[in-house]
Amino acid sequence: MWSFISTWAFSSQAAEAGAELLKSGGRAMDAVIEGIHRVESNPEVDCVGRGGFLNEKGELALDAAVMDGDTLKTGAVCAVRGFEHPVDIARALMDKTRHNILVGEGAEEFARKMGIPESAMEDLITETARENWRKAAGIGHDTIGAIALDEHGSMAVATSTSGANMKLCGRVGDSPIIGSGFYAESGVGGACATGWGEDIMRTCCSFRCVSLMAAGMSPEEAVTTVVRTAHETIVRHGGKPDCIALVCMNAKGECAAACNHREFSYAYIKEGMDAPLVLEKEPVLDKDAGNTFIDGVAGYER
Ligand code: ASP
Repeated sequence: MWSFISTWAFSSQAAEAGAELLKSGGRAMDAVIEGIHRVESNPEVDCVGRGGFLNEKGELALDAAVMDGDTLKTGAVCAVRGFEHPVDIARALMDKTRHNILVGEGAEEFARKMGIPESAMEDLITETARENWRKAAGIGHDTIGAIALDEHGSMAVATSTSGANMKLCGRVGDSPIIGSGFYAESGVGGACATGWGEDIMRTCCSFRCVSLMAAGMSPEEAVTTVVRTAHETIVRHGGKPDCIALVCMNAKGECAAACNHREFSYAYIKEGMDAPLVLEKEPVLDKDAGNTFIDGVAGYER
């Protein structure tokens, strides 16, 4: 049995590409990387790779990560400039070194040494990204996170994002942080997150989700518990949670998703399906829990 799940409707192209590989016996790691490449190269996706949101200085600074569920090896890069595929740098770090995370210039230098193709910053920045930056419109952010199980039973997870529009230079979100933005252990399960990284990090969402599956919860129970607990824990400590959303998969390839805000979508495909399904989740919280619900993107009152 193979299976693939990824965050947001725009990731259906990633699910298609990943499924092509998995169908023909390909490895989970190659499937998540291949899927993420599609989204990183797509200038229409405003939050990942080419065309992503810019930092306060008007630079495109990308975060990405991979984790191999067979070995628990991981690679992550933060605030990388001048590369369309930060996920390739993360994978090279995992495959070729004993390190887990590289940031900024160190990551860029390592990528050059590995022969990963560079792009001029201007070629990676779209007119829409410039406009969003000039207007500093809202706080745009999203991430592609993808989890795959292959027919050999191996699991892998990867993430890629430009982080938050107008973020401070050097800001790192949850997406390249193991246990927060992503986690996978073959034979147990995988999880990855999207939303306001600062909230996802302080509640270590992805590791919690995989731990709950390890303790016997179904993907649906685990991911719902994690999002609800993260939200309620932040509230209990006097905070105002922003958007938190996760997708997860267990070792049987069963998938689930949960969010605390409206308009969270994900793509999903497994053996026996012809094309990915794109589904939207309802928030796990309701007014009875003391949350003020607001229609639309904002989700809950902050
Ligand atoms: N989690 C990402 C970050 O904080 C953005 C997102 O997924 O919405 O950088």
